[in-house]
Amino acid sequence: MTAQDYDTFRSETRQWLEENCPAAMRVTPRKDGSDNVFGGTQFEFQSAEQRLWLQRMAERGWTAPDWPAKYGGGGLDAQQTKILRQEMRALGCRDPLIGHGLWMLGPALLEYGNEQQKQQHIPDIVHGRIRWCQGYSEPGAGSDLASLRCRADDMGDHYLVNGQKCWTSDGDKADWMFCLVRTDSSGPKQQGISFVLFPMDTPGVSVRPVPLLTGQAHFCDTFLENVKVPKENLVGEEGQGWTIAKALLAHERKMMASMDDTMPAPPKSLRDYAVERFGTDEQGRIADVEIRRRVIDQMMRKKSLDLTQQRAFEEGMAGDIDMRMTTIFKYAGTEYQKRNTELFMDLQGIEGCRWDAENFPEESQFPTTWMNSLAFTIAGGSSEVQLNLIAKRALELPQE
Ligand SMILES: Cc1cc2nc3c(=O)[nH]c(=O)nc-3n(C[C@H](O)[C@H](O)[C@H](O)COP(=O)(O)OP(=O)(O)OC[C@H]3O[C@@H](n4cnc5c(N)ncnc54)[C@H](O)[C@@H]3O)c2cc1C
Repeated sequence: MTAQDYDTFRSETRQWLEENCPAAMRVTPRKDGSDNVFGGTQFEFQSAEQRLWLQRMAERGWTAPDWPAKYGGGGLDAQQTKILRQEMRALGCRDPLIGHGLWMLGPALLEYGNEQQKQQHIPDIVHGRIRWCQGYSEPGAGSDLASLRCRADDMGDHYLVNGQKCWTSDGDKADWMFCLVRTDSSGPKQQGISFVLFPMDTPGVSVRPVPLLTGQAHFCDTFLENVKVPKENLVGEEGQGWTIAKALLAHERKMMASMDDTMPAPPKSLRDYAVERFGTDEQGRIADVEIRRRVIDQMMRKKSLDLTQQRAFEEGMAGDIDMRMTTIFKYAGTEYQKRNTELFMDLQGIEGCRWDAENFPEESQFPTTWMNSLAFTIAGGSSEVQLNLIAKRALELPQE
């Protein structure tokens, strides 16, 4: 496509979004994520606009803009996808649908799934009909994921799966799980892992939500007892699970690194909050010197992160994509978000500790967002583990 084609695409996209995105879907989502659309059979829409926005976007395949049109995706190239996201952000349009299917399983299935699996699952993900959860972590297998012990015994036409998964986000609300299982214990631990899919209502699957400090229960312990998984639900080859798991994690990390960018901009910037609280000096700068230093430091971090992401994107478009970058962006992006929310909290002073959402709808978002930002430095591989990977794979430092 020529530069002119992209300009035309941009103006047509903007016009379509202006005409089709309901006003109620152009307000900032709640920070605790409670008004996001996750889809799935148990999901209850909170408004007619939420449903309509999802329907309209899914019909164009724009819930998954860069997936192939033959499976219901938008069929856009990388530059068009970027333009769509930029225009959505400029108009404040919310993501019509989010979740593990779009962020993780879909891209992995497109790469490793067979034709039948793609046809069965990809359109359901695009339309938000099925909600997926991730069965990776186990007690004793988090950072050291390859030590997982959940067993899948070969029973001829199916596997019999036994074991326990933990930290299963929204396992109680999901329809299907993508799951790492051990099909072979005889060789090196990475080699005996396989990647399977099964519905959560399969006999033998039970989930127990784990209550958190926030009072919510996003996570579940998932118990798998003699769960029958047909062999056609094996993705890739038996024993190829580790390769698929890593590819999927790269997508998870990419999503987490850019989480800040996919959200509509907050109503006020860090600087606005700082000026509101501390006022300005005679030159119009934030009056408090230490706060000014911290705000500027964050703005510079954001700028360098954005520029580096832009550079990686352009190199990727030139066919030079480097998956090691996702590790760097996961680390830098989630640590940036953590510092940002800490600063937002500090700027509120004692009011930043207000927890009661009913009486303090604006302030109460800060502690929740801050706690979520800590979680993102752990989910999908902790910051320490990302640093290890960067040292090993990107910088090629010695192991010792
Ligand atoms: C918000 C959230 C959502 C999640 N959702 C899911 C989900 O849906 N499905 C799923 O399967 N899992 C999920 N997880 C689990 C997540 O993948 C694990 O928490 C993560 O991989 C860390 O594993 P762990 O909790 O067992 O910690 P551990 O591996 O026990 O690590 C404990 C501490 O030791 C450090 N550490 C461990 N090994 C090293 C090392 N080699 N070098 C330096 N430091 C090290 C870690 O950084 C960490 O600080 C989720 C986690 C969070 C926080």
